[in-house]
Amino acid sequence: MFTPDSRIALAKYTTPGFKKAWNERARYSYRTYQSLLGLADQPVEYVDFYAVNGGQSAPGGNEANEDRPAFAELEGELLADLQPKNRTFPAGTHSLGAHALTRSTTLMFNLSAYAHFLMSDFRSAGGKVEVTEFTSPADFSLLPQKTLVNATGYGARALLNDESVIPVRGQLARTPPQEGIHYGLAYRDSIFVPRRDGFVFQVIGNDDYYGYGIDATAPDRVEAEHAIQTIQSLFPPV
Ligand SMILES: Cc1cc2nc3c(=O)[nH]c(=O)nc-3n(C[C@H](O)[C@H](O)[C@H](O)COP(=O)(O)OP(=O)(O)OC[C@H]3O[C@@H](n4cnc5c(N)ncnc54)[C@H](O)[C@@H]3O)c2cc1C
Repeated sequence: MFTPDSRIALAKYTTPGFKKAWNERARYSYRTYQSLLGLADQPVEYVDFYAVNGGQSAPGGNEANEDRPAFAELEGELLADLQPKNRTFPAGTHSLGAHALTRSTTLMFNLSAYAHFLMSDFRSAGGKVEVTEFTSPADFSLLPQKTLVNATGYGARALLNDESVIPVRGQLARTPPQEGIHYGLAYRDSIFVPRRDGFVFQVIGNDDYYGYGIDATAPDRVEAEHAIQTIQSLFPPV
């Protein structure tokens, strides 16, 4: 999903300069994604997303504390004009049980198509992929290029002792996609994203700190099934 401020930084780093730079980049990225809408293999598309109200398992507990420093929250403040307005559907006006729904409309990425698009673009602009092994950061100086981008994600923490990178977020569970389902759902502690390259189910917990500080990478089957069953419980058994 297009979620440009989601856990991107801690609130204590949101200086006016950071906010200005973030705003410009988020708008640039939004504009760029607009230009990818409507392509045949749909790397990016709008989807409606329904938050099913009621049934929240535990109270939110979003408050920050010493172990959970506050995250920067910028989208509401700086990008509100870009997002379509939410709409609420009272219980009894739709087919999804006795719940009120809040609908938002957002950009979703079909990552296989998007990755393919990016690599094709890169290659057609003359980009080349070269595989090289570095045994220590000292090897970087052997490269002729003046600028290097270290794009190893969480791996940067171990590679370059970058303690500022913090694991956060949990895991995705995937199922084969189903034709004709093009809306997302959020219910209790789980969400469903209707990606065309495979449906996604995820436990997101009850606040932004789900998975915070947990660096486990082994898939958790129990958690995957919990996410699927939570969404499934909205529908009558088949
Ligand atoms: C469950 C979950 C849901 C998310 N949902 C969203 C969302 O809806 N929207 C959104 O915008 N973002 C979302 N994110 C965040 C998003 O996935 C990351 O911000 C993004 O993937 C970071 O991209 P990256 O290229 O910097 O790093 P990564 O995608 O982590 O890529 C880094 C790569 O470097 C490789 N690597 C690491 N160390 C080494 C090494 N020593 N040698 C060689 N290779 C190495 C890794 O294997 C990996 O392939 C989500 C993340 C998670 C975990």
